[in-house]
Amino acid sequence: MGIFENIFMKAKGAVDALGEKAGQFVDVSKLNIRVAELKSDLKNEFESLGKTVYNCEKNHIDSAQETNTFVSNIDNIYIQIEELKKQIAEMKNKVICKFCGGANENNALYCGKCGKKLGNSASESPEESGEDDFSDFED
Ligand SMILES: [Zn+2]
Repeated sequence: MGIFENIFMKAKGAVDALGEKAGQFVDVSKLNIRVAELKSDLKNEFESLGKTVYNCEKNHIDSAQETNTFVSNIDNIYIQIEELKKQIAEMKNKVICKFCGGANENNALYCGKCGKKLGNSASESPEESGEDDFSDFED
């Protein structure tokens, strides 16, 4: 044990830190995972479509009806992927409010939904660590 766990913890820490600074990172990665899932669905559909066409050809069956179902399934998945890609592109240009989750323009200072200040300037992150730092100086 050790090295692998260390790398994992470091990576996790980095992701957590990013997530706190800019909430949109977390959501974009979730959407990317969904795109990857849909792409593997797509692969499965194409594979099934291929098998179906093969079996129909081999047995001299008209495959039109069966393939139509696959075609509409595949089109459906393409539409979902396009939709997610649009969302990802939009989110990359947006600042997500950490109070209400509303999406705001990148240059917005205040949330258009709840009116709270958006913490998109890195300079403003008050750390709550001041108290314990100096306790060592006491007798
Ligand atoms: Zn808000």
